Amino acid sequence: MSATYDDNNIFAKILRGEIPAFKVYEDDDTLAFMDVMPQSPGHTLVIPKAPSRNLLDADPAVLSKTIPVVQKIAVAAKKAFAADGIQLVQFNEPASGQTVYHLHFHIIPRFEGVALKP
Ligand code: 5GP
Repeated sequence: MSATYDDNNIFAKILRGEIPAFKVYEDDDTLAFMDVMPQSPGHTLVIPKAPSRNLLDADPAVLSKTIPVVQKIAVAAKKAFAADGIQLVQFNEPASGQTVYHLHFHIIPRFEGVALKP
C-alpha cells in the first residue's frame, strides 16, 4: 500500500512561506528553488504546488505543467552555470533515496571530469 501525502514536509512549508528558500522561478502551478545542500553549483529543485508525495501518485495534469518548467530550468541552469551537461534526478519512496515527501525534480549541472559531492 502506498503512503499518503503529509503536508508537514519541508517543501510544503516552503510553499506556505513558513521557511525560506532561494526561489529562482515561480508561476501559479510550479516553484523552483536552490537545493540547500547542492551536489554541484546550481543544483535546483522543481516542484509542483499541488500536493503529491512523489511521481507515483502525481496527477498527469499537474505533471503536464511541471515538466515544461523542468526543461526551462535545465536550460537556464546550463547557461547560468556554464555547465557541460544537466543531470535530472527524481526519487520515489525511501528505497529509492527519497527523503522529502513532496514530488520534486533535481536539476544538477554537471561539469566534465567533476564528480558530484557525496
Ligand atoms: P530527495 O528527497 O530527492 O532525496 O532529496 C531532497 C532534497 O531536498 C535534498 O537534495 C536536500 O538537500 C533538499 N532539501 C532538504 N531540506 C531542504 C530545505 O529546507 N531547503 C532546500 N532548499 N532544500 C532542502
